[in-house]
Amino acid sequence: MRKAQSQDGVAPVTWTETFNCDICGKQKGTVDHWWLAWSEPYSPHAEAPERHMFKIYPWENMLAHDSTAKHLCGQACLQKLVDRWLNVELGATHSAAAHPGK
Ligand SMILES: [Zn+2]
Repeated sequence: MRKAQSQDGVAPVTWTETFNCDICGKQKGTVDHWWLAWSEPYSPHAEAPERHMFKIYPWENMLAHDSTAKHLCGQACLQKLVDRWLNVELGATHSAAAHPGK
């Protein structure tokens, strides 16, 4: 038998956190160019209905702890998230319209 795990096989619990991409599940490394994205309620003026504004920010560890922030491993996953979000928003817009959907 070979010792595959060093130490006692217990991962050291330090403050080093791991983050996983919310789209593909990839684990964040130290030098990746990741993105954070989230949406916030926003109303452009008093009489406009409140919708969601989609925000994107380059990876920032402090911000990554925010429970509402999505973690994206790169542009491809970021674009997937944007696509999903657009579809949800379009769905919300058209939910009362005549289109019965798929
Ligand atoms: Zn990803």
